[in-house]
Amino acid sequence: MVRLLPPFFCLMLAGFVNWHAPSLESDRLSMLSQLPYILCGLAAFVAILANHSRDLGAALIMLACYWLIRQYLQAPLDTEPAGQAYSLISLCLPLLLGILIVIPNTGWRHLGFLVLISFISIFALIITSLFQWQPLWLSTLSPELQESSFLGLKISSAASLLFIVAFMIGLALPILKNQQLDSSLPGCIIFSFITLAWFQVPHISATIFSASGLLLIINQTHSLLNMVYRDELTQIPNRRALLRDVRNAGNTYALAMVDVDHFKKINDQYGHDLGDQVLKAIAAKLCQITGGGRAYRFGGEEFCLLFKGKTADKVVDNLEALRKTIAEYDMTARDKKSRPWRQNTGEKKRGASRSKGNIRATVSMGLSDSNDSPDFDAVLKAADRAMYRAKESGRNKIRQ
Ligand code: GH3
Ligand code: MG
Ligand code: MG
Repeated sequence: MVRLLPPFFCLMLAGFVNWHAPSLESDRLSMLSQLPYILCGLAAFVAILANHSRDLGAALIMLACYWLIRQYLQAPLDTEPAGQAYSLISLCLPLLLGILIVIPNTGWRHLGFLVLISFISIFALIITSLFQWQPLWLSTLSPELQESSFLGLKISSAASLLFIVAFMIGLALPILKNQQLDSSLPGCIIFSFITLAWFQVPHISATIFSASGLLLIINQTHSLLNMVYRDELTQIPNRRALLRDVRNAGNTYALAMVDVDHFKKINDQYGHDLGDQVLKAIAAKLCQITGGGRAYRFGGEEFCLLFKGKTADKVVDNLEALRKTIAEYDMTARDKKSRPWRQNTGEKKRGASRSKGNIRATVSMGLSDSNDSPDFDAVLKAADRAMYRAKESGRNKIRQ
């Protein structure tokens, strides 16, 4: 749901600006018409710094498209070449954004991305030459492309179909690939569809293309922040996020240090890759902690649980339930690398999977709270010492 907020916010902002546009003075209006260049240009610049080919491609396509709109579509659409340029933009835009969704996000320094950009540039050159050779070639070639309109809107049915297909692919691919949804490209597709479908609305291209640039910037900033505060392997908050959250935790909080027992043996027996999968599975279990706790990967096979506003006594039961759940969690190696674990439910399954090798991991926990000392380092050390006591007393235990 959080991923849907930026496009929604950008669209609301664009609607608000568009509503206020008629009351703007002429110098402000001319600034508004330059805003997409600034925001999409900034989005392209951030994508270059982050080596993000998909967002760079989207920003460049939106930039080029806005330039074409300013250049050729300032006349009524039933005059030429505005009508043809409109048809061409509405057919090419979903196609190009769709291609960006399908190709891998390799980074812009990759040969494949540079080949794609060259291919698009050659394609654009051919189209331009066709216009110079025969200004009405598109309407002669296929008049119905320009005439049939979608639900009474400006845009043609063929272009609308392309927009719908590209949008559906943008939503479906991350689900099929088991990846997080990135709203940048689906957002750009919807935004450009809105612009073209309601093209008669004054200033719509300036406000909505600005919203596209803003969306690309917000999403890139969000994923950069994710890299800073999220652990790459387990996708849970990291140590830096813990230090940030402790600063806002107030005077009362409990902290549990969690260490996987004999993890080196798991690595040695099953290999580093499966060791990684065990860490992921344990991190996922830790995130299910009750009692208002939040899980962090502290480093290696060590995790932390922070309970804001709680003392140690209040969270022992929650930790005990979690310790038990992890100890009883029976993990089985699967063939697929992306989802190598499942929890066995039936006896039959358990028997069948035993030959492949089930892994059960336990954790030892050390608990302390800010009542012992107001200083976070001291709380952390106390939790660490308690964790070692749990190890010494036989592991798979909680000590305070
Ligand atoms: P103990 O019960 O005393 O905690 O024993 P242990 O084997 O868990 O502890 P030890 O500190 O000896 O070993 C921790 C191991 O965790 C060593 C290291 O290779 C492994 N490890 C740390 N980070 C990762 C990781 O990201 N992936 C994998 N697969 N292994 C890791
Ligand atoms: Mg350790
Ligand atoms: Mg360990």
